[in-house]
Amino acid sequence: MPRLDTDTLEMLLTTVRDYAERELTPDFLLKLDHEDTFPAKVLKDLYDPSQIGLNLLFIPEEAGGLGGGAHDIYRLCEVMAGIDLGIATGVLATCLGADPILVGATPEQKSAWMKRLVDEGLLMAYAATEPQAGSDLAALTTQAIPVQEDGRLIGYKLNGRKQWISNGGVADLYTVLANAPGGPSWFVVEKGATGLTAGKPENKHGIRASNTAALFFEDVFVPADSLVGGVEGKGLAQAQAVFGYTRLMVAAFGLGAGWAALQRAIRYSQTRIQAGGPLSGKQGYTHKLIAPNAVRLEAARAYIEWSAERIDAGEPDLATEGAVAKYSATEAGNKACEDAIQALGGYGYTREYLVEKYKRDVRITTIYEGTSEIMEWTIARDRWQLHLKTKGAWFCDWAARLARESGGSTASGAPFAAAALSALAALYERCRLDRLTRSQHVLFRLGELTSWAETAAIFSERAVTKPTQAIALSPQLLQTMARVHAREAFYRVACEGLRWANGAGQGDPELASALDVAGALKAQAGLLPDLDVVAKGLVEAFPVA
Ligand SMILES: Cc1cc2nc3c(=O)[nH]c(=O)nc-3n(C[C@H](O)[C@H](O)[C@H](O)COP(=O)(O)OP(=O)(O)OC[C@H]3O[C@@H](n4cnc5c(N)ncnc54)[C@H](O)[C@@H]3O)c2cc1C
Repeated sequence: MPRLDTDTLEMLLTTVRDYAERELTPDFLLKLDHEDTFPAKVLKDLYDPSQIGLNLLFIPEEAGGLGGGAHDIYRLCEVMAGIDLGIATGVLATCLGADPILVGATPEQKSAWMKRLVDEGLLMAYAATEPQAGSDLAALTTQAIPVQEDGRLIGYKLNGRKQWISNGGVADLYTVLANAPGGPSWFVVEKGATGLTAGKPENKHGIRASNTAALFFEDVFVPADSLVGGVEGKGLAQAQAVFGYTRLMVAAFGLGAGWAALQRAIRYSQTRIQAGGPLSGKQGYTHKLIAPNAVRLEAARAYIEWSAERIDAGEPDLATEGAVAKYSATEAGNKACEDAIQALGGYGYTREYLVEKYKRDVRITTIYEGTSEIMEWTIARDRWQLHLKTKGAWFCDWAARLARESGGSTASGAPFAAAALSALAALYERCRLDRLTRSQHVLFRLGELTSWAETAAIFSERAVTKPTQAIALSPQLLQTMARVHAREAFYRVACEGLRWANGAGQGDPELASALDVAGALKAQAGLLPDLDVVAKGLVEAFPVA
C-alpha cells in the first residue's frame, strides 16, 4: 500500500480538526449522545470532496481516491476517535464495507464500485455478523441461492439476517457475507433492494452517534456480477486478508479515545488542588491513574506504527500483528478512559466533563472487529505455530537480536524486553512439553503475555530508532516510557506465566528459574523514579491552556 506524503496527510488531519472545532462542539456531541441521533449531515460533510472528502483516503488513486496507506488510516482513525467514536465508526463502516471489494473484486467491479464511492460519496456497511454467528463467523446461515434463466446464472437470492451492522439503517451500499453453494461469499447489495429491510437503531451503551441495526433479507435478488470477485467461496479468506489492516483501524480508535480522555485528566490534575497542592504532583494519583496509561497507550502506538509500515511495504499475512495492535491498544484505551473518570473524581462521573462519554464509547473497541478474547486466542494460536515450526527459536532469536542491537543499554528497557521474550519462549516450551494449552485459559493467557512481550520489544526498539511523530512527547520521555513498559512486560511474562503454568499443573521445579522470575523482580529497581519522570513529562507535554 502506498502512503501519503507527510504534508498531504497533515493537511487532511488539520482540515478534520478544524471542522470538528467549528461544527462538532462538546455540546453538539453530548446532544447526539443524549438523543441517540445519527448525524447524517456530518457524515455527508466529511465525505463531501469540496469540504473534506475523508472517504477518498482509503480509495486507490487509480479509482480517483487519495490512495492512503495503513499508516494514514491509523492517523485519521486516531484523530476521529479523539473527536467522537460514534462518528468515527460511521466513517470506518464505509471503509470496512469497501474492503471486500478492494481485496476481492475483479478489476471491472472494483473500478465501477469505487467510482460510485468517489462520485456519489456513498455510505457503506459491512454485514458479516449474524445473531448466531459473531466470533464464529463460519456459523453464518444467510443463504445466497443461485437464480438461473435459460440455464444461465443471472443472479442470487439472499435470505437471512445480519446483526449489529454499523450504518445498517443508513447505508447506500452493503457488502454482505452469505453462503453460496461454493461457500461463504461477499455480495454487494444496493439500498432499497426489494426484500431488504433494516431493524430499528439499537439503543447502545456508547457510540450513540453511530447507527447500528439488524438487516433482514427476504428473497433479495442481486445480479450475478454482485458476487465480489465472481467466484463463490472466497468470502472468509477475503475477510481474513484485510484483518491486519482493519484491526489497526480499531486499534487506532482505542488509542484516540484513550488519549483524549487521558489528556483531559492530565490537564485537570494540574488545576485541581487537594491537600495543599495540585493532583499532578501526587504520586498516589499520577503513578496509578495517569502515567501507566500513557505508557501502555504509547507502547500500543509503537506497535501500530510498526505494523502499518509493514503493511504499507506490501508484506502480506499480518493478521497476528493486527491482533496484537488491536488487543493492546483497545485494552489500553479502555483502561485509560476508566481511570480518567476516577482521576476527575465526582466531576468525571458527570456527563459534562466528557470523560464518561469517552469511556462508554471506547468500550465497543474491545468487542467489534473481534473481541479481546478472540484476539488473545488468535495471537496465541499463531505464535504457538511459529514456536513449533521454529523449534522454539522464534522468540529466542528475537530476544537475542534485541539484546544485541541495544548493546545492553537500558535507556529504553531493551534488555528487559529481551528477557520478557526469552521468558515467553521458555513458557511456550513448558506448555508444549506438559500439554498445558489443552486448558483454554492457559492458551488465552499466552496470547495476553505475548502481546505484552511483543509490544515491549517494539516500543523499546522504536523509542530509540524511530520515535513517533504523531504525539508531542520527546524521544527521551518515550524512552523512559518504553523502559517502564518493558519492566512490566518482563514481570508479567515471568510471574503470571509461572502462575498459570503452575495452576495448570506444570511439572518442572526449575520453571521459575527458566522464566527468570528473580531477574524480573530485580528489573523493577528504578521503576518509581522513572514513573516520576513520566508524570512530570506528561504535565509539560499537556499544559493547561
Ligand atoms: C456497536 C456494534 C457495531 C458493530 N458493527 C458491526 C459491523 O459493522 N459489521 C459486522 O459484521 N459486525 C458488527 N458488529 C458485530 C461484532 O463484530 C460482534 O458483536 C463481535 O464480533 C462479537 O460477536 P458476538 O456479539 O456474537 O459475541 P459472541 O461471539 O457470542 O461472544 C460473546 C463473548 O464470548 C467470548 N467468546 C466467543 N467465542 C469464544 C470462544 N470460542 N472461547 C472463549 N470465549 C469466546 C467473546 O470474547 C465474548 O466475550 C458490531 C457490534 C456492535 C455491538
